[in-house]
Amino acid sequence: MRRRAETVAALIRPYAEQMDEEERFAPEVLELLASSAVWRSVHGERAGAARLGDQCRWIEAIATSCTSTAVLVQSQLTVGHTLELSGGPEVQGLLDGMRDGVIWGWGLTEPDAGSDILGMTTTARREGSDFVIRGSKRFISNAGMAAYYLVFARTSSERSSRSLSAFVVPAATRGMSVGRYEKKMGLRASRTGDLVVDDVRVPASALVGEPGSGFALAINTLRWSRPLIGAVSLGVARGAFAELASQVAPDPAALKRLADVEQARGHQLADLLTQLAAASALLYEVADRVDADGTLPPMWRASAAKAFCSDTAMRIASTAAELAGPNGVSERSRLGRYFRDAKVLQIFEGTNQIQKNAILRELLEADLARLGTARI
Ligand SMILES: Cc1cc2nc3c(=O)[nH]c(=O)nc-3n(C[C@H](O)[C@H](O)[C@H](O)COP(=O)(O)OP(=O)(O)OC[C@H]3O[C@@H](n4cnc5c(N)ncnc54)[C@H](O)[C@@H]3O)c2cc1C
Repeated sequence: MRRRAETVAALIRPYAEQMDEEERFAPEVLELLASSAVWRSVHGERAGAARLGDQCRWIEAIATSCTSTAVLVQSQLTVGHTLELSGGPEVQGLLDGMRDGVIWGWGLTEPDAGSDILGMTTTARREGSDFVIRGSKRFISNAGMAAYYLVFARTSSERSSRSLSAFVVPAATRGMSVGRYEKKMGLRASRTGDLVVDDVRVPASALVGEPGSGFALAINTLRWSRPLIGAVSLGVARGAFAELASQVAPDPAALKRLADVEQARGHQLADLLTQLAAASALLYEVADRVDADGTLPPMWRASAAKAFCSDTAMRIASTAAELAGPNGVSERSRLGRYFRDAKVLQIFEGTNQIQKNAILRELLEADLARLGTARI
């Protein structure tokens, strides 16, 4: 599987810089994802068959070539996981569509609701056999490109974990539109935009899971999707390290000079490699344990993987840009793109500050003192 993922990644690689510059996916890359059966492989052949470790390996490989493409794949796996968690029979048809490459957007964040999900003000009001959804969403990946959105909305005015619900909304539904697109520093080929949800009427069957289950669906999806962002980050870290190594140690003689003479630079390279190995060990320990146990990871593990891998990506991309000298900031080098993408990875899917809050909250609940000594 890893070899197949690396082959696809190598085919995507030539498009990455141009897509970054043009701020859009090349049709060839979308075609490649479909023709290489990537969607079918990553989603699993049937419900419940998806393996987090395999998904991470696919995404990591693709991110070494192109972060935006890796995030496109990650975003589909995020929606797919929410649909699977909701468990309704109707989601099987939707998941089959995803296996055929139908693109979705995951609509949770709003201008005043991201870190604080319960700040959400988009509402879904029951009218006869329909729901009417009204509000707006902010920073939604694949805006304008998706055929469907999973829209989270408030179905109760209380501020409680039972006040949100999730709805399947076809992008073409009357009242759905894209407000504006973000021009971003990183992840530039990945479209990010605001969604305007203006009295959008959907049938009651558009409700995903039980009424009031939206908060639990979102949180439990993050327990799966945060390691996936860890995998995107690991791919960026690996790509930046490989690019740096090719620049500062293009041959054995140059590497020997770093080890024997230019040791200050050599030690930095050694530190980066150590951090890369640590990030990889943490991520796959989390993902492979999920697959072995058949249960979602505790949130603190998912958050630790996301935060550590994206911080590692940032550290490696930043140090790599410095060590490469002027080449590190040249438009001709990939290092600048890795650096810009790594910054976004620290911020989305919950900022790394929010990940640390999640880690602390669960450590407190699980008895911090005991965890200090027991095998974690
Ligand atoms: C490129 C991109 C793509 C995205 N795609 C999607 C998508 O597809 N779907 C979707 O729903 N969302 C998406 N998002 C939104 C993203 O997940 C949120 O922007 C992110 O989680 C941060 O939330 P926020 O915007 O509310 O930030 P804010 O909460 O406004 O954060 C601002 C700052 O305050 C800090 N902060 C806030 N609360 C705390 C706290 N309690 N303790 C410590 N520090 C705190 C944060 O760490 C941050 O530094 C995307 C964002 C980006 C940039």
